[in-house]
Amino acid sequence: MADQALKPEQLLQIDYRPPQKDWRDPKVEFRKGVFCYSALAKNLEYLGLPNPRKWQPYDADWKLPPNWKEIILEGMRERLEKYRSFRLFMDICVRCGACADKCHFYLGSGDPKNMPVLRAELIRSVYRRYFTAAGRLFPNLAAARELTVDVLKEWFYYFYQCTECRRCSVFCPYGIDTAEVTMIGRELLNLVGCNINWVLEPAANCFRTGNHLGVQPHGFKDSIDFAVDELAEITGVRVEAPIMKKGAEVLLVVPSADYFGTPHYYSLLGYLMILHEIGLDYTLSAFVSEGGNFGLFNSHEMIKRLNAKMYAEAKRLKVKWILGAECGHMWRVLHQYMDTMNGPADFLEVPVSPVTGTRFENARSTKMIHICEFTADLIHHGKLKLDPNRNDHWNVTFHDSCNPSRAMGLLEEPRFILRSVCNQFHEMPENTIREQTFCCGSGSGLGTDENLEMRLRGGFPRANAVKYVRDKYGVNVLACICAIDKAVLPPLLEYWVPGVDVAGVHELVGNALVMKGEKERPADLRGTPLKMKEAAAHA
Ligand code: SF4
Ligand code: SF4
Repeated sequence: MADQALKPEQLLQIDYRPPQKDWRDPKVEFRKGVFCYSALAKNLEYLGLPNPRKWQPYDADWKLPPNWKEIILEGMRERLEKYRSFRLFMDICVRCGACADKCHFYLGSGDPKNMPVLRAELIRSVYRRYFTAAGRLFPNLAAARELTVDVLKEWFYYFYQCTECRRCSVFCPYGIDTAEVTMIGRELLNLVGCNINWVLEPAANCFRTGNHLGVQPHGFKDSIDFAVDELAEITGVRVEAPIMKKGAEVLLVVPSADYFGTPHYYSLLGYLMILHEIGLDYTLSAFVSEGGNFGLFNSHEMIKRLNAKMYAEAKRLKVKWILGAECGHMWRVLHQYMDTMNGPADFLEVPVSPVTGTRFENARSTKMIHICEFTADLIHHGKLKLDPNRNDHWNVTFHDSCNPSRAMGLLEEPRFILRSVCNQFHEMPENTIREQTFCCGSGSGLGTDENLEMRLRGGFPRANAVKYVRDKYGVNVLACICAIDKAVLPPLLEYWVPGVDVAGVHELVGNALVMKGEKERPADLRGTPLKMKEAAAHA
């Protein structure tokens, strides 16, 4: 829930004047509302991660291993050798400042260390001190810093005030990706046991049960059965939602929030309706009951370990290809890492829609396509009967979730779908959408309640653009295709832009889809009476 203690007008008093102290001073204050709690020892133990213990960021003593400094510097050396991009990003920044005002955390907090250039400089300064001749010989001239406990605490503070959204990289003339710097920073912290619970608990749950929420296989099946029953009540049509069906053509992978949270759940109903309507031979699986991968917010190693289940289960079930649902960071992992880390998936086939014959060459290596690509293709070929009037109670805008937009270029398909299923659609201002989209402010594992003030600050630029279309066009729903967005945007909008709801794109498709043999549907998937019906009733 939004923090009522801090009124929006108070939070908007952002001081952009640079502080008096030297930027090299690492001291930070772990104040309530702007940081995330540490990971519980049991989760580190479960994942086999180093230095499990009881501690909190506000403690003076972080109970680091005695040789913590050597561990971090050795970890840095290894990564400088292993990741050429990391070394480049350490060396080539010219401090032009093009990225400085592009980060939502800087815009919302006014803290200069939330400028991408300075966030990366926190680690670059240590790199220069230990890995460059100039830094070793003339540390002051080279702006190099000793690695101290205070510097480590500062890293923790600022690398967990970056959502790895990559907006800054769009504006950097050298293509420096500060999200990758943050990822390495978090990896290094991880080596000495400094991580946050909101990342490691879902990761540990995934290892145990296949999904972030810890839902066990029978719970997964119950949830899907519940959705099937509810759909039968709403539409009069009983769909099939097979689980672990060997030899099915397609494996459907959804984020766990789709079968356990709202508004996500309504998108799940939308997928089930479409797949039934076109008669796709598909299956879900309790072993892959999660599309998301919180390894992305912890370490490369964890990404690989968590993602392995997808191809392993596809192989076991002998499907031809994989269809992925509305999840944000799942698609970053998929498009940028999965083939290298977990591939080659040469036991799968290049996805071909059995309904339209479209061959998705873009998924030639991963063998996995996004449900928006699949649905847009169906609509383009006239394979779905749609009645956009059923969404007339919604005046829609679209939030490009950071990862599908910037990591995979999924820009046109959701818009094409929305324009096909809704009569009212308005874009937010140009510099806040598509590749330049603003983050929800709570991605990369930062969506915890203890971190609420920082989330509201970081989400302010997004909310401000929503306010623009609400005030100008009467927009009342923000559509998106990311499970984290669907969880964190409702409280953000309630705080900054009351009166605007959040919905998945496939919820709106489900509302508009006219199914064969359906009964009269006076309400949408949420049970809200249709505006067209209300109008008819009053006529
Ligand atoms: S835009 Fe790129 S080169 Fe310029 S300061 Fe930012 S990271 Fe450095
Ligand atoms: S990746 Fe996003 S959150 Fe991180 S510094 Fe860049 S703009 Fe800010």
